[in-house]
Amino acid sequence: MIYLDYAATTPLDPRVLQIMLPLLTADGSFANPASTHGPGYKARAAVEKARAQVAALIGAEPGEIVWTSGATESNNLAIKGALEFRGVRNAHIVTSRTEHKCVLDTCRHLETQGVRVTYLKPGAEGVVSPEQVLEALTPETVLVSLMWVNNEIGVVQEVTRLAPLLRERGVLFHVDAVQAAGKLAIDLRAVPIDLLSVSAHKIYGPKGVGALYVRKKPRARLAPQMHGGGHEWGMRSGTLATHQIAGMGAAFEIAAAQLAADAEHLAGLRDLLWQRLQVLPRILRNGDPGRAAPHVLNVSFEGVEGEALRASLPGLAVSSGSACSSATQEPSYVLRALGRDDELANASLRFSLGRGTTAEQVEQAAAAVIEQVLWLRELSPIWVSDRVSGDA
Ligand SMILES: *Cc1c(COP(=O)(O)O)cnc(C)c1O
Repeated sequence: MIYLDYAATTPLDPRVLQIMLPLLTADGSFANPASTHGPGYKARAAVEKARAQVAALIGAEPGEIVWTSGATESNNLAIKGALEFRGVRNAHIVTSRTEHKCVLDTCRHLETQGVRVTYLKPGAEGVVSPEQVLEALTPETVLVSLMWVNNEIGVVQEVTRLAPLLRERGVLFHVDAVQAAGKLAIDLRAVPIDLLSVSAHKIYGPKGVGALYVRKKPRARLAPQMHGGGHEWGMRSGTLATHQIAGMGAAFEIAAAQLAADAEHLAGLRDLLWQRLQVLPRILRNGDPGRAAPHVLNVSFEGVEGEALRASLPGLAVSSGSACSSATQEPSYVLRALGRDDELANASLRFSLGRGTTAEQVEQAAAAVIEQVLWLRELSPIWVSDRVSGDA
């Protein structure tokens, strides 16, 4: 099986596991990090080390990192927290149609509470322009939420250009940076983003842990979504998952050390894959190639049926869209938002590459896809008649 679905999740780096294990057992630092005794302080030290490691990858201060159970929670806390703190009455949010479901569903929930939401439609290449965002602002706009890198098509949004424009206008800016962390340089000292979500399991850390960056200067204020013991400066109560957090810290430190090498490796493989697929006529690359994250390639194949294509590739773990929405079997809403019709959106594959991916695997995957697409087109009466009329 060739696994090319690293945008959905990654395996744990073995070095990360070594950091995590001693935080779980009796002869290690299993204590509650909130406890005020020696073992508690030791666990606390592991948590604080990880906070500094996560902060370092994104150019933040450790005190700006709030631990969560993952980016789904981070996005919920950022968006609901900011809106509830300011008051939902007459409030307005600007976001885009190609955000992750956990942003879109949070916005939908807030609509039931009286918040007005503008869902911007990106251009055909998947990019939401800063001008589009500025035009959508009203005096009631509390927050703009835009992802840094799209998880399905890999487009890098113009968040660095947009951030200072929103700061000037006094609008909070939340960025889902799950697919950007460890792939692109992020420096929050230079980019005035207020709230930023990250997750561990997309960059070789454990599942079930993430963080929300909450800017201190100027301070972004949030209403907590989890009430309890007042952990995490009151923003997120609950006993900290010491081992998960330490694993996330280790994964982020490794990602920082390998950022340039990882990006070069991934972009090289992405370009190789796209180049190999070129032998197929009538395929479309989804997302602006000039604004592409290194690890994602999304391609639509004309003249094949999406389900048949995926079924014909049992040895290849690729995604039809995002893992989160593929349970519904509906064509990708991201590709639909780019203007692809249902049929073409369905006949699309997202290839996502990882640190462990080799050129040989890419060659094998490309060969398998090419063979199956040619075969399925051969079988398709529509494709044949199409081709004949095209030749005539
Ligand atoms: C995976 C992902 C999420 C959700 O993160 P979890 O930690 O799995 O909850 C949010 N946004 C994007 C862009 C993602 O890729």
